[in-house]
Amino acid sequence: MSQTASTTQLLGGRLAVNFANVGPSQTGLSWEELILFLEQAHIISPERSSQLLSLPQADPQAAEGLFVRALRLRQSLRKLFAALVRAERFPREWADPINEVLRITEGHDELVLQDGRWRTEFIAREGGLDWLLAAIARSAAEIVVEGQAARLRLCANPNCGLFFCDTSRTGLRRWCSMSVCGNRHKVAAFARKHASRGHAA
Ligand SMILES: [Zn+2]
Repeated sequence: MSQTASTTQLLGGRLAVNFANVGPSQTGLSWEELILFLEQAHIISPERSSQLLSLPQADPQAAEGLFVRALRLRQSLRKLFAALVRAERFPREWADPINEVLRITEGHDELVLQDGRWRTEFIAREGGLDWLLAAIARSAAEIVVEGQAARLRLCANPNCGLFFCDTSRTGLRRWCSMSVCGNRHKVAAFARKHASRGHAA
């Protein structure tokens, strides 16, 4: 996959889904990917982003603490989301990494107007580094509560691994992105059809 973080970020449709999609799907993500994601998701400013990029040198312990928590959260989201996609129940402890972040972050909800629609957005109190993950954990908790109503899907391309929320009217969206995986599928189907044309009646 050669998708950039910024295109990947837009595909999931919700913050926690986008976070689960960051980096290679099976392995973890790097510190740089984490910080750039937070910037692209407008959780931090570009100035804060460049400060944080050098945090592993400036304060290795603080960086390690945040990084471990972020990896744990992301891993649990991928597991939870995979279960949600298959409409399976999951053990209670799978939600622990989300609860851990929710527990330590203080904040409040604010009404925001986006694309002509009102929604609530969680604004975390900026103390320590854990607040950086608060909005992601909050978004994940909402998706878990919504369950099947969140219409969470896994891209139909088995090599892709990206999650998305199907907001289409029909609810039949199959691909993370029509221009990436959908198109690839169409091209392959066209090639197959073309190759077998000689044999078909
Ligand atoms: Zn895909």
